[in-house]
Amino acid sequence: MDLEFSAAEDAFRAEARAWLAAHVPAERLPSLETAEGFAAHRCWERELHDGGWSVVSWPREYGGRGATLTEWLIFEEEYYAAGAPGRVSQNGISLLAPTLFAHGSQEQRARVLPPMASGETIWAQAWSEPEAGSDLASLRSYGERTTREGGGWLVSGQKTWSSRAAFADRAFGLFRTDPALERHRGLSYLMFPLDAEGVTVRPIGRLDGKPAFAEIFLDRVFVPDADVIGEAGQGWRAAMSTAGNERGLTLRSPGRFTAAADRLTRLWRERGALGDTATGARVADAWIRARAYQLAGYAAASVGTGMRTEGGTGGGAGASPFVSSMNKVFWSELDIDLHETALDLLGPGADEITDEVAEDIAEDIAEKIAKEATDEVADGDSVVPSASAWLDGWIFAQAGPIYAGTNEIQRDIVAERVLGLPRGR
Ligand SMILES: Cc1cc2nc3c(=O)[nH]c(=O)nc-3n(C[C@H](O)[C@H](O)[C@H](O)COP(=O)(O)OP(=O)(O)OC[C@H]3O[C@@H](n4cnc5c(N)ncnc54)[C@H](O)[C@@H]3O)c2cc1C
Repeated sequence: MDLEFSAAEDAFRAEARAWLAAHVPAERLPSLETAEGFAAHRCWERELHDGGWSVVSWPREYGGRGATLTEWLIFEEEYYAAGAPGRVSQNGISLLAPTLFAHGSQEQRARVLPPMASGETIWAQAWSEPEAGSDLASLRSYGERTTREGGGWLVSGQKTWSSRAAFADRAFGLFRTDPALERHRGLSYLMFPLDAEGVTVRPIGRLDGKPAFAEIFLDRVFVPDADVIGEAGQGWRAAMSTAGNERGLTLRSPGRFTAAADRLTRLWRERGALGDTATGARVADAWIRARAYQLAGYAAASVGTGMRTEGGTGGGAGASPFVSSMNKVFWSELDIDLHETALDLLGPGADEITDEVAEDIAEDIAEKIAKEATDEVADGDSVVPSASAWLDGWIFAQAGPIYAGTNEIQRDIVAERVLGLPRGR
């Protein structure tokens, strides 16, 4: 096996690194979970797009640069290592876009993808309902057929736990369009504007007080046939493709974890107590697991199967969904362990320790940590002082085993479908 990068890949990395060094904001952006931060991150998406870096693996006609899966992995490493802002467009570029590449029409791709790539349209995922989370197929929101404007659906119901829906422009979701059929059938995958007539978006209060998480109420919202992904009634199949991307490499790429493991290693060098081999072993363990994830990504890229990426190139549409279940358990548990180790290194009062840490260590290193800590909270990006980004990251990591399908469910899938164990339900 050849583990060397090609000259073209090295050049790609150098170009990405140089661009990021010149463009990543020196000041940390306000949290993308606030109105101000959401707008600032949207501007950053535009800047990435103008530089040709917002969706590297997409075909050029949609705003990408036709990068290979290996190049996409390289870009992600550089992105996180540079401490670049969290991706406010992640629901669109990581979840909806690959679904459109696999199941959408040419017309939908041409209409939806370019404004997604530039950050002009930011998407929310409207799947979960109060009574349908793990058991998504039990969802009750529904669409009634209408002949209005050439044909479409009038959609009603309630969606919940929709990340950043309070500020997003459009949403994609699953709706029951044929109640007579078995529950996995008769579901349709629809796109709709969040400011459409009949839509009410209500922020859900979070412990941290940030207002972007929301529930969505729909009252006979018109969705034209042009905004049905795949065939009406075939939504489950397309939804499983979205879920594969959410759990696979796409949403939480290896680069995010290799960058965090490198920061943890530096933190250990600065703060680790002499002789504390137990913590040292945890740091090494986190680094090994991040490296293993990185190598698994490159292995998937080199054999061309992949666990799907944001775009159409090298995404491996035929990759087993069970692989992504294993992947999701792996990255979400690594994220928790990595942050827990960092908090143990920082010691009691890690959330208040920023100034102390900054005084303790040489100024240049403090600045580096401050800058590099920013992407720890890609989703829950926050304006709290930099060293406590580890704490923010830890809090956000707690949600990892829940979103994108809980880890209990992923383990069930692996037990039943990979290991052939008896069904638990
Ligand atoms: C930070 C965050 C962001 C999110 N963003 C979005 C979003 O943008 N859009 C969206 O649609 N949803 C989103 N969600 C919702 C998420 O998808 C659901 O929380 C998740 O699917 C679990 O559903 P639930 O909360 O209804 O829990 P439940 O399904 O009620 O599960 C409760 C518990 O029971 C366990 N359980 C349930 N069934 C089984 C079983 N058969 N076997 C073993 N254990 C079982 C679960 O693992 C869990 O521990 C988000 C959630 C979080 C935490």
